[in-house]
This record gives sequence, C-alpha cells and structure tokens, in this order.
Amino acid sequence: MAKVTVKDLDVKGKRVIVRVDFNVPHKGDVITDDNRIVAALPTINYLTENGAKVILLSHLGKVKTDEDKVKNDMSIVAKRLAEVQNAPVKFVNATRGEELESAVNAMNEGEIILMQNTRYEPGESKNDPELGAYWASLGDLFVEDAFGSVHRAHASTVGIPTHLPSAVGFLVEKELSFLGGALNNPGRPFVAILGGAKVSDKIGVIENLLKIADKVLIGGGMAYTFAAAEGKKIGNSLLEADKIDLAKDFMAKGEGKLFLPVDTVIANDFDAPTDIKTVASGEIPDGYMGLDIGDATIAEFQKELEGAKTVFWNGPMGVFEKPEFAKGTIEICKTLAELDGATTIIGGGDSASAAKNLGFAEKFSHISTGGGASLEFMEGKELPGVAVIAEK
Ligand code: AMP
Repeated sequence: MAKVTVKDLDVKGKRVIVRVDFNVPHKGDVITDDNRIVAALPTINYLTENGAKVILLSHLGKVKTDEDKVKNDMSIVAKRLAEVQNAPVKFVNATRGEELESAVNAMNEGEIILMQNTRYEPGESKNDPELGAYWASLGDLFVEDAFGSVHRAHASTVGIPTHLPSAVGFLVEKELSFLGGALNNPGRPFVAILGGAKVSDKIGVIENLLKIADKVLIGGGMAYTFAAAEGKKIGNSLLEADKIDLAKDFMAKGEGKLFLPVDTVIANDFDAPTDIKTVASGEIPDGYMGLDIGDATIAEFQKELEGAKTVFWNGPMGVFEKPEFAKGTIEICKTLAELDGATTIIGGGDSASAAKNLGFAEKFSHISTGGGASLEFMEGKELPGVAVIAEK
C-alpha cells in the first residue's frame, strides 16, 4: 500500500504546512552543503505552482541554550532557499504568536514562508500536544517531506499531522520507494555493504539485512569486533568487547552470506602514523590498529558485487577522512558507481559524503538524505513520521 502523496491533495488556495529537512551543515552564516534544500524543491515548487500558500517548518541543529539559538538561526536557510528557488521567501523570526499568525494570514497563493527553527520551542522534541495542535491551527493541510527527521516523533513531524489531512511529499515518496523497494522487493542478488565505526550502531540493520539480502559485506571499524569473535589478533583496533557474542551469533546466522575482510591496512598510531602496512586479517600485532580494508579485501568485495542487482551501502570501509586510510572506501564507492544494471542505494551519512566528494553522486540510483532514518528503515522499524500519514 502506498501513502497519500501531495498530488492527492487539493492544495489550491490552501495553507499547506510542509515539514522539510533544512538541517544543513553550516559554519556561521555559510551553508557548506545545500543538498537538503535542493532536495525539498520538487515539493515546494509543485505547491507554489498549484496555488498553495506554503508554510515551511524545519529544525536546524541542536538547540539547548540561547547560544545554540544564535548559532542555529534559520534565517540563513531562508536566504539560500530564495536563491535556489529564485523566488521570494518570507522568513518569520518566530515560532508562535502574533508575528507568525499575521504573516500566515497575509499570504497569497504561491507565496512561501519559512518559520524560525522548530527547536526554538522546547516542546518540539517532546512532541508536546499543545505545540502540535497550535502549529496545525496555522494550516489547512500538512505535507511530510523531511525524510531526515521522520524517524523522530516530534511535534512538527507527528504532532501536526494528527490534526490535519496529510500527505508525504515527493522526497519522502522517493526515499520510501527506493529503500522500501530494496527491503520488500529487491532485484537479486541483493548485496548490502556495511561499514563505519561501531557494531552497536548497526546491530539492527545487520540483523535485518542478514534475513533479506543475499550477501552482507562488513568493513570499517566494526569488522574488528567480528575478527575478535573469531579469535583473531586485532592489536589495538577498535573493539566492542560486549558485542563479541553478538558478532558470533551474526556469523553463525550469516554463514555463507556474511563476508568479512581478509586483510587490513594497519598503522602504529592513529594521529601521526610512522609505519603503515597491510597484513592478513587477524595478524595485527600489538601496538598497531586496523584503519582500512586491504587490497585483497577490496578485490574480494568487488567479486562479490559482480552481477548484483540491488546494493545498499552504509558506512565507510576505513578512516576515510585520512587519505592514507581512504582507499578501501574510494574503491568500493567506484565499484558501485560503475556497476551495470544495478539499483545502487547509499544510506546517507559518511558514505553519502564520500560519494559526493568523489564526484560519483550522479552515478548512484539513490543517495538517501537521512542517515539515521534510512538505517532505521532498513532495520525494519516503523518510522513515526511516515506511520502517521494515511495509506491511499
Ligand atoms: P559511522 O558513523 O558508524 O558510519 O562511522 C563512520 C566513522 O567510522 C568514520 O568517521 C570513520 O573514520 C570511522 N571508521 C571507519 N573505519 C574505522 C576503523 N577501522 N577504525 C576506527 N574508525 C573507523
């Protein structure tokens, strides 16, 4: 069953509240990556072109103190949105009250308002019912397009749509279509590649993908907990000792489909390494730590990826922020970018940045805009901001 989408709503002349994900990285007033703003444009443009009055709500960063408020002032996003949209955007420096209400009442069809950061309201993250009802009172309809926030039950993601006829926007629709396609009806073979620092962050996703995917390839820091579970020597590599039993359990369940690195790039120091070399997995001497997958593992993973019809990738293969330990991530990224006839999906976060920085973004079928949300989705969890929207 598919969710009601923005196209199912009669938006002409209506006040449409859109929860977008404008939680963009920024240094001071400078937005360093406007992808999330650009990703919201299809829904915003559709609404303005169809005569809606568009009221945009989003959070930006974490807001606990007054200093955080200054740091995460949404006005910088309003400026950038107006530039990329090439249309005026009225910024309202309030999250409730007279200024906000009169701005909404004065709107004409096709106009856009961006409200101040939803997290200026302490009730936002607690899904305060009064706040959700108040924001809902400003609109006639609600559109959920903040994929990066749908795994959180907040006033703006879940509170508002409990009061208004609601739909998903084009971005959430696209995310659900790609991620849902991989989970529910993947072209096979379906290969998942999981990396990153910690097993504990990825337990749910490994567990679910071991059931669904044909192969699960594990790299990154979390591979060393698996190596330790096999009784191998991992030197000073990242280890989550309390996850060793779980890793054993995964290896037993994943027999034949779980692939671990066969070699690893090691160094004698994380910050200032003077000795970097490649050794077989499990032969890491004391005083050394594993920081990337080695060439033999790259070749092995490439072989396992041959002929894949669906690939889901989350998490770097090594400490890719440092050029000495980036090769594994770069080579895997390249391999995926060049896979013919496969649906290739990146689950947000660091792997998404790696693909973009390497200039491969266009070569993937889909790069999720929500790291946390896409992982929770792939774990098989219900996303509250999606669950609240009715099925067609
Ligand atoms: P995550 O957020 O869980 O996807 O983890 C991403 C982080 O994992 C990146 O900052 C990487 O530097 C880090 N990482 C990847 N491989 C290793 C490793 N072998 N040792 C330590 N950190 C790693």
